[in-house]
Amino acid sequence: MATKYIFITGGVTSSLGKGIICASLGRLLIARGLRVTVQKLDPYINVDPGTMNPYEHGEVYVTDDGAETDLDLGHYERFLSIRTSQQNNVTTGRVYYDVIMKERQGVYLGKTVQVIPHITDEIKSHVLRLGESENFDIVIVEIGGTVGDIESLPYIEAMRQLRYDVGRKNTLSIHLTLVPYLAAAGELKTKPTQHSVKTLSESGLSPDILVCRSEYPLDETIRRKIAQFCNVEIEDVIASLDAESIYEVPLLMQDEGLDSRVIEKLNLPAKNADLVQWKQFIDKIKNPKSETTIALVGKYVEHHDAYKSIVEALIHGGAENDSKVNIKWVQSDYVSDENVSNLLTDVSGILVAPGFGDRGIDGKLSAVKYAREQGIPFFGICLGMQCAVIEFARNAAQMEDANSTEFNESTPYPVIDYMPDQRGVTEKGGTMRLGQYECKLTDGSHAHKAYGKTQIIERHRHRFELNNELRDLLRKNGLVVSGVNPDRDLVEIIEIENHPWFVGVQFHPELKSTVSDPHPLFVAFVKAAKQYASDYSNVKTKENQPV
Ligand code: GLN
Repeated sequence: MATKYIFITGGVTSSLGKGIICASLGRLLIARGLRVTVQKLDPYINVDPGTMNPYEHGEVYVTDDGAETDLDLGHYERFLSIRTSQQNNVTTGRVYYDVIMKERQGVYLGKTVQVIPHITDEIKSHVLRLGESENFDIVIVEIGGTVGDIESLPYIEAMRQLRYDVGRKNTLSIHLTLVPYLAAAGELKTKPTQHSVKTLSESGLSPDILVCRSEYPLDETIRRKIAQFCNVEIEDVIASLDAESIYEVPLLMQDEGLDSRVIEKLNLPAKNADLVQWKQFIDKIKNPKSETTIALVGKYVEHHDAYKSIVEALIHGGAENDSKVNIKWVQSDYVSDENVSNLLTDVSGILVAPGFGDRGIDGKLSAVKYAREQGIPFFGICLGMQCAVIEFARNAAQMEDANSTEFNESTPYPVIDYMPDQRGVTEKGGTMRLGQYECKLTDGSHAHKAYGKTQIIERHRHRFELNNELRDLLRKNGLVVSGVNPDRDLVEIIEIENHPWFVGVQFHPELKSTVSDPHPLFVAFVKAAKQYASDYSNVKTKENQPV
């Protein structure tokens, strides 16, 4: 079967949740036995989001092959249980970079290089290459930005052309739009949708299906009006109401018939959807048997998207433990040794987040110390693991002023230091230790128990690493090295003795957690936190008993 392409555009406003709609449609089509992947086209000029700060962009999602990509790829992997790669994320920066390189090499010799056809051809070749790479049945192409933006135009033009290149019957255009409720008028308004569809149609890409985000149900009259003015059939007006959890969106879309319409229009050979596992997961997150509160200590906590995959991995780990994880967001800038017990008194697990630069480090160190001394389950990720090593060195191994050379170049104990191949690297784009690397686990360690095997592969994004010259000194004082990269002898996981669950990982386990495969370390961490909560409540009840 020829690969079919579904283009998803967004209108009226940003933040309508296009990524979740793409991921949900992908989930539904996979559940019907089709081979699906999703691609994100981003209209910004950065070659990738790796150089943007988390306030600007949210989390940078790293794929197996080490690409630094948009966080929507995280949704695709979590919903579809697929692996994505650099091919799944294309930016305007990358497209122009490649075209300019080709121009310098003389590929277009004699020609004037222009947006049409050269930029649009480059965009199309990225889309087609992904489709052909594994002979997918369907590629869902999410076009970033909002219709009407100058930046999106070349993408929309490229999709318009693709409809003819691969045949109209092999493509579908879905437009995600907003149907706002005007309180003063007491009704839902369709005009923004009409305008958005008009703008899209002027670019030659009229939608076949409209997904309408709305805070209220769309009744028959509204649906008919939208259908009539936007040139679609009434069945192609799909309502997308706010959901309690993003994981419910596939089921809501199924109820609205989105997958059926797509299958019919593209004439796809599809079986009935198998969503048994998915529904079991929803049931677990909607009807938890307990609640667990975990502190997420980081410096970008006002901006939850900066920790997107961690939040989702905690949900997955919670579901596996029949527990709802409540996140207590803790701004590390404000944590100190003096207030930490107050700030973290009501949590049963502490997660110290990844990050760059020295802002908020002291607060993170206070949180680590508190977790270590009080026996509270602790999970340190990347910078969080590095903080755990620094704290341990200073306060448990008498290595005064131990630090990472990221924060103090002249520390007497550089327990975290540049990896040798990172020294002297000045270019920022794509130059960290990125992507997946092997790690060997120590028998009997918490990590080994969680994974249930000794050989694992995880994804990385960092420049610094535990300093091997100080490894023995740290070990002598009780730091456990429970995971090591066999090729370069790099420490990837640390634990400490005589603690219920204290694990720091140099990699990013959150990136590989999916609905169907919750990450073992998150499952084990939530389990330990749940245990801590129940032990602690026992102690409390005993304490409260009259003597
Ligand atoms: N800043 C640290 C490093 O570069 C940690 C990075 C991270 O947490 N992703 O090694």
